[in-house]
Amino acid sequence: MPADQVLQQEGSPVLLGALWAKWWYQRSTLEEDMQGAVRHRELEVYYQPKVHLVSGMMRGAEALMRWRHPVLGLLAPSLFLPLAEQSGAILEMGHWLLEEVCRQASEWVEPGINTPISVNVSERELAQGNLPAFLATLTARLGIPAKSIELEVAEPGRPVDQDRFVQQLERLHAAGARIVLDRFRCSPEELSRLALWPVDAVKIDRSVIRRVDRDDRVCEALARLVALAGERGLETVAEGVERESQVHRLKRLGFASAQGYYYAKPGPGYRLEYWMEGKI
Ligand code: C2E
Ligand code: CA
Repeated sequence: MPADQVLQQEGSPVLLGALWAKWWYQRSTLEEDMQGAVRHRELEVYYQPKVHLVSGMMRGAEALMRWRHPVLGLLAPSLFLPLAEQSGAILEMGHWLLEEVCRQASEWVEPGINTPISVNVSERELAQGNLPAFLATLTARLGIPAKSIELEVAEPGRPVDQDRFVQQLERLHAAGARIVLDRFRCSPEELSRLALWPVDAVKIDRSVIRRVDRDDRVCEALARLVALAGERGLETVAEGVERESQVHRLKRLGFASAQGYYYAKPGPGYRLEYWMEGKI
C-alpha cells in the first residue's frame, strides 16, 4: 500500500506517529517562542467590561492576555496558557500583564476611568508567592490605589490543601487588592466551602450562566448563592452573559454585576474607551 494511503488509514500507527511528531514539533516550537514573547513585545491586553446589572453602568473590566505570534497571528489564552503554566513562563508573562494593567489604570485616572481592573491569577502564580509584594510595589510606584486592581483566583479543579489555599488568598488580600473567586460552579461542595475563603466577590462560571434562563434547578442554586453572598457581603458577578433573557433572570435573582458578549466582547484598551463613550 502506498505511504499516503497508509497515512489516511485512521488509527494506523504511522498516522498516529506522524500526528504525534507534528504535535510535539508545534508544542516545542511554541514553548521556545514563548520564552521571547515578553522581550519581543508580542503580548497584548484585551479588556472586557463588567456591568452593574441595575444601572447598566460599567463597574469594572477584566484584563485578558493575548499573544500576537509572529507567524500564527493573534492567539487566545487557551492555545498558550496551559503550556506557559507548565513551563513556568506564566510567571514572567503574568508580571508583564500586571505591570501593563497598572500602567493603563494610572493613565485612565485622568480621563475619569476609575474603574477597577481584574487580572487573572494562575495556580502557579498564586503558589510562587511574590505577587502581593510585586503588586504593592507597582501600585505605590504608579500612585494608584491598591483597590484599582482586582485579582481573579479560581479554586484548582482537583482536591487541594484548603488551609494552604486560604493562606495564599489571605496573602493576596494583605496587598490591598480585592479578590474575586473565579469560575464558581455553584455545586453544594463549593457553596459549603465559600464561608472559608477570604474573598470579596464570587464570579459564576459561564457553564452555569448559560442555563440560568432555561433550568429552574440552576436558578435555585443561584438563589442560595445570592442569599449566602448577601450574608457575607460578597459581590455576585455573572460571567458569559449573551442573551437578554439571562439579564432578566439575573436581575430577578438579585445579582450585582454581569459580564459577557451581550454587553461587549473583549478588545484592546481603546475599544473599552469607545464603549464607555457609547461609540460602539
Ligand atoms: P476566564 O477567567 O473565565 O475569562 C473569561 C473568558 O470567557 C475569556 O476568554 C472571555 O473572552 C470569555 N467570555 C467572556 N464573555 C463571554 C461570553 O459571553 N460568551 C463566551 N462564549 N465567552 C465569553 P479568554 O480571553 O479566551 O480567556 C480564557 C481564559 O484564559 C480565562 O478564563 C482565564 O482563565 C485565562 N486567562 C486570560 N488572561 C489571563 C492572564 O492574563 N493570566 C492568567 N493567569 N490567565 C488568563
Ligand atoms: Ca476570570
